[in-house]
Amino acid sequence: MYLDNAATTQKPQQVIDAISKFYSHTNSNIHRGIHSLSEESTLQYEAARKTVQKFIGAQHDHEIIFTAGGTASLNAIAHSFGSKYISEGDEVIITEMEHHANIVPWQLICDQKRARLIVLPINDIGELCLDQLPDLFNERTKILSLTHVSNSLGTINPVKEIVALAHSHNIPVVLDGCQSIQHGKVDVQDLDCDFFVFSGHKLYAPTGIGVLYGKEKWLNAMPPYQGGGDMIKNVTFAKTIYNELPFKFEAGTMNYVGAAALASAIDYVSNIGLDNIATYERELLAYATTKLSQIEGLRLIGTAANKISVVSFVLDGIHQYDIGMILDKMGIAIRTGTHCTEPVMTHFGIDGTARPSLAFYNTYEEIDALVSAVEKVKMMFG
Ligand code: PMP
Repeated sequence: MYLDNAATTQKPQQVIDAISKFYSHTNSNIHRGIHSLSEESTLQYEAARKTVQKFIGAQHDHEIIFTAGGTASLNAIAHSFGSKYISEGDEVIITEMEHHANIVPWQLICDQKRARLIVLPINDIGELCLDQLPDLFNERTKILSLTHVSNSLGTINPVKEIVALAHSHNIPVVLDGCQSIQHGKVDVQDLDCDFFVFSGHKLYAPTGIGVLYGKEKWLNAMPPYQGGGDMIKNVTFAKTIYNELPFKFEAGTMNYVGAAALASAIDYVSNIGLDNIATYERELLAYATTKLSQIEGLRLIGTAANKISVVSFVLDGIHQYDIGMILDKMGIAIRTGTHCTEPVMTHFGIDGTARPSLAFYNTYEEIDALVSAVEKVKMMFG
């Protein structure tokens, strides 16, 4: 039973077939060839860009930059935006519930520029202390970067309202969509965020492909963060002219097979319907939450009113690694540890949680099996 979907998802057959078909029939490097295989590869790669554009409601396809994943996208934004817009004494706002991928890249650029990282705290049910946000904005604030959905708490943040508030102070907003894109419809124009990032592998696509969406005005203004082939118009030793969007941000051979497979995964979830996925997962979450909270000595970590299907918990006197290992012996895969959110664990005074995370292919029977397995763990530990 695979209940570790927040870490990565399993792949539908059509996604696996798309990869195999690409390598078997089409494989050729993109953008550089005049032969038909290269043209076909390029067509599929650029079609994938349009698929992503439509999927997240971006205005232009050149606002979609392919990367290696969510972490790569966040590093790219921090580095590129930061190198141009962040100076000594400036401030970058993040939140206490960020994944390390949305903390460390900002620390790197803040260290380099002698800027300050400002952190919006969370409360004890794992929601953002939004009442404190307006006080954090000032004339030194350059950007706000926060997660749409928390990977360790499951909290869905009211990002549309947060973006509107930040914009009323002229502050651009980055949304980390690594845990939201697979659980419900995302429309970047409706959210009005300036940047939105996600990883393909959490959306039923392969590893090694991710997306960086940025509003055209930002991407045009920001410098490239990597140099190499394809991101240039022409190169001389005296001066290099950069390519236009999106290629300015896509140096070297891209993961074009991964992009095509991501498009296939997007077709797959779109056929099921993101609204249907959200409805079913919400019901599954409610069932799992009710059942798990009936276990004596079990404490849920992250009980926000609005959550995706992540159920972090701790058990009195039993270490999460023991829970995870014993569940594994019973054929149930869950994640244990800090989930790359150490500040969240510090907030709750724990060193980690056991975290089942559910996808649309999980079932009520699997939740029942999980609950009785956790009961067994308790019995084994007396
Ligand atoms: N942000 C969040 C909220 C995540 O859950 C993850 C993955 N656990 C990441 C960023 C980083 O994603 P990746 O490891 O795929 O780059």
